[in-house]
Amino acid sequence: MNTIQKYDTYVMKSYGRVPLAVETAAGTSAVGEGGKTYIDFGSGIGTNSLGYCDADWVNAVCKQVQTLQHNSNYYYNKPGAEFAEKLAKLTGYTNMFFGNSGAEANECAIKLARKYSFDKYGKNRHNIIALKGSFHGRTLATLSATGQADMHNYFFPFVQGFIHAEPNDTADLAAKLDDSVCAIMLEYIQGEGGVVELEKAYVDEVYRLAAEKDVLVIADEVQTGAGRTGKFLAGEHFNKKADITTMAKGLFGGLPAGVCLANEKCADVFTAGTHGSTFGGNPVVLSGGLVVLDKVSDPAFLAEVVKKGEYIREKLSGLDEVVAISGKGLMLGITLKNKKAVDVMKAALEKGLLALTAKEKLRLLPPLVIDYKSLDLGLGVIGEILL
Ligand SMILES: *Cc1c(COP(=O)(O)O)cnc(C)c1O
Repeated sequence: MNTIQKYDTYVMKSYGRVPLAVETAAGTSAVGEGGKTYIDFGSGIGTNSLGYCDADWVNAVCKQVQTLQHNSNYYYNKPGAEFAEKLAKLTGYTNMFFGNSGAEANECAIKLARKYSFDKYGKNRHNIIALKGSFHGRTLATLSATGQADMHNYFFPFVQGFIHAEPNDTADLAAKLDDSVCAIMLEYIQGEGGVVELEKAYVDEVYRLAAEKDVLVIADEVQTGAGRTGKFLAGEHFNKKADITTMAKGLFGGLPAGVCLANEKCADVFTAGTHGSTFGGNPVVLSGGLVVLDKVSDPAFLAEVVKKGEYIREKLSGLDEVVAISGKGLMLGITLKNKKAVDVMKAALEKGLLALTAKEKLRLLPPLVIDYKSLDLGLGVIGEILL
């Protein structure tokens, strides 16, 4: 059996996989088994922020894996200390918790918000308002938070305490924000939900109402964070800093981790034994993350992300098939006139380009380091398909 056949035989069929086995990769291109090269406009769903196998990142990860690979959270280690200090200084958050994925970062945020409220106000103030169209993860609590009705199936009973509100509808939010609510959870730009941006006025109102009632705001920046939108955190586009922010995808350059960041309100909410993760804060992963932080936090780097996003928009917006382009920086959703995004994605694969979809849109999440030559090659492929 070949690679694909072995997967299809032994691995559960929970993904609609694309028939490509990636063997090696470098920079902004991946090479399949058999030798065909692909320009990558998906970057492992936004995880490979520095592209494939960035030399500094590889060096840091290899050095750490030869020094100390893990030792659990009973002990301290230097990469964790360095990473935490750097991320705290960069974001202004007072402290953080390390997990292994976006869903775990959000689980942490949910527990943190509920305990903050429990400690201060007692029982029955545990509900979390999340938005329709959102995506927060695949664990039962984060799936329950996810505002997509078609995902609320099969796995009953779901976790209680999530109320779904219409995004960009302040009246709906105000009506649902009663005394049972401890937090409002949002993505500034809904990623899996179709690259849908929240309106500035709506975000302002979320923060105003939340502050009035000591309700926490949780920003899920698992996809939008770490420079993806041209700011280190997408909240900066709105001049907002949530009480709790979660990050994962692009922050570690392609190794698995997630982080839940909190402000002073939540600094002492977790006490010993109230939350944990065996692998969380793994020093190899955080050593890679340190390199990502160094590069991505540079204002010149972020300005380039903005410029490249504008370049993509400029090239694609002239095409007759392109109705609209949503998103910010290098997180873009393309609404097509007649063609189906999934068909475009498949045609792109044939022509040597990896792209993504989100709901009915074609979604582009190229590595943040992509150069103009690779951009032109990939955009050329899309142009041919959309012609
Ligand atoms: C991908 C994603 C998650 C889930 O992250 P995992 O690492 O797959 O658990 C949560 N929230 C958002 C906004 C995401 O894009």
